[in-house]
Order: sequence, then structure tokens, then C-alpha cells
Amino acid sequence: MAILQRWLYKQLLLNVKDLSINYRKGNKSVSALQEVSISVSKGEVVAVVGESGSGKSTLGLAIMQLLPPPASVSSGEIILSGKNVLSMPRSEARKECGSMVSMVFQEPVSYLNPVMKVGDQISETLMIHENISKREAISKAIHLFRRVKIFDPERVYNYYPHQLSGGMAQRACIAMAIACGPSLMIADEPTTSLDLTIQAQVLHLLKELREEMQMAMILISHDLRVVSGMADRVVTLYAGRVAEEGTVSDIFHEPKHPYTRALMRASGLGNLDRTYDVGGSLPDLANPPSGCRFQPRCPFAFEPCGRQPPENRMKEDYRVYCWLYDKKEGKGEDSS
Ligand code: ATP
Ligand code: MG
Repeated sequence: MAILQRWLYKQLLLNVKDLSINYRKGNKSVSALQEVSISVSKGEVVAVVGESGSGKSTLGLAIMQLLPPPASVSSGEIILSGKNVLSMPRSEARKECGSMVSMVFQEPVSYLNPVMKVGDQISETLMIHENISKREAISKAIHLFRRVKIFDPERVYNYYPHQLSGGMAQRACIAMAIACGPSLMIADEPTTSLDLTIQAQVLHLLKELREEMQMAMILISHDLRVVSGMADRVVTLYAGRVAEEGTVSDIFHEPKHPYTRALMRASGLGNLDRTYDVGGSLPDLANPPSGCRFQPRCPFAFEPCGRQPPENRMKEDYRVYCWLYDKKEGKGEDSS
């Protein structure tokens, strides 16, 4: 057991522990993440799913050290390759993350510099990070374009972002994200803004690159179908809290949390009845409900749910934060 634990520890790339983040909004404080823990091992794909406003991007930006100024971390740790980046000076933390983690965003064009040729955007990054000549960087950038299956890469090198289609712009951003060989890629809704056929191609590309490069990935999506063919583990986030976490087969074959079941039903997956058509919307995170944050919308809410946030009483690697699965106070469902 001790050997297994040591092996797992060695393989751990990212360990986010009890992370809480608030945004200041006028004189209010929005609780975007509350005691969120997730871990990613080398080469693993962890999907983070949840509806709009559940805190997915906040989590990604926090890991990347890119939180905007109204955000503040009120507690928690982000341990990257054994070092807590939150206890480092910001510039050092950014450097540490920059060398290991890269991010791909939902709106690719807004992350490209509109007045600079896309090829130069990549070659300049390469020149800085790898200390190579302009000529070498250009040839490497063209090679990267080829790798992300951009047709006619020599020509596209000289395009400006507005000359690219959505799919091409996302491929260029992916090329930039893999340029320095990251150990972890955070893909935040990487296909949401693209046409359906292009979505499938870009997902396929991400899958191929991830396998080739043995890169770990946090795949953020509001749609369980998107993550089904790619993730090893799935974490569902609801209103800034983890609702459930398990392997893909745990989550897709037997989701336990009523919110995960609602997401499955909304994605047209699973054999779930109408009980799981939950109406309403996320609570006001400036004033979140006490107890379980899902309780106001939950078809199974009962007495303890409004009183106290549920704890995980399952195994370490399978988590369900729901009173229905709580041995002490809940209705005694199996929590073995
Ligand atoms: P989506 O699926 O729409 O991208 P998300 O799950 O990524 O949503 P976040 O963008 O992380 O959710 O937002 C979580 C909460 O934090 C929301 O209540 C949102 O309004 C709030 N929030 C996010 N960014 C800011 C900001 N810059 N200033 C204030 N509040 C913010
Ligand atoms: Mg988002």
C-alpha cells in the first residue's frame, strides 16, 4: 500500500487543495469557488463539467495564475509538481506555471494579437522560451502549424488573426499552447464557439496531441458528451463546489449526485427519467444558500441539506458531496 501511495504521489502533477476564490463586485463578494480540490496525474485527462457560472474558468485561470484583479484567493493551495505556487511571489509563480501549463480558451480570436501575424506570435514565444534564432523559430512554428493540421502552413504563417476561420484560429492557439511542450494543458470549452463538424475535428486533434505528447489535460466543458470520449476522470462542479468526482465509467454508468444526473439527462445521456429535469438556475453566489448549494433545486432535498454542506463519505478516489450518500444522517444509501 505504501509503495502504491508513493508511486501515486510521484505521478501527481497538480494538486489543488480546498481552493476558495471570491470576486469583488461593488460592495459584494461573489463566492466563485468554495473549498475545491482536484488532482491531476501525469498524462491524465480530468474533465471539469458544470453549467454556466459554476466556476470552471475561474478554476482554470487560478491554476494558470491568470485570475483577473477582482478575484482573490481566500484559502487553499495549488501544488504544481510538488510546489505550492500560491505561496510564491506572483512573478515566480507565473514563471513556474508558464513552463509547465498552457491554456486554450473558448474564443480563440480574442487570445491572438490582432495586429501581429499569427506565425510571428508563435515564433516570438519560441525565441524567448527556447533562446533560438528567428530562422529556427520560424521553421519550428511552421512545423507546429503542420502538427495541428493547418493546411498550407507557410502561407498561414503570414496571416493576421482576422483572416483565420474559427477552427483555424483555434488550431493556431493550440499550436501556441503546445509550443513549449507543457506537461498540462487546460482546455476551457475549446470547441464551444465552433461549428459542429469543426468541433469534432478539433477534439480529435486535442486527443491525438495529448496521446503523442503524453500531456495531462484539464478539459472544461458544460457538455458531458464532449468529455465522454476523452476523459479519464470527471469532476462535476456546481455553484463553485465539487458535487461529484469519479472515473469516466463511474460517472457515465452510475452517476450518484442528483446534479450529475441532471447534467446527464440534459446532455441526452443515461437512462434517467424526468425527475432529473431540474428547473431554475444557479443561486446568487454573493449570497449562496447555506448547506448544500444545490439543495434549492434538488428533487431529493431533505432535512440536513439546507443545514450543513455535505461531506464526502465515499472512497478517496470517488467523491460524492450529497447527504443522500451520507451514512450518519442520510438515507443510508450504499457508501461502500
Ligand atoms: P461559463 O460556462 O459561462 O464559462 P464558468 O463555469 O466558467 O461559466 P466562471 O466564469 O468561472 O464560470 O464564473 C464563476 C462565477 O464567478 C460566476 O458567478 C461569475 O459571474 C463570477 N465571475 C467570473 N468572472 C468574474 C469577474 N471578472 N468579475 C466578477 N465576477 C466574476
Ligand atoms: Mg467559463
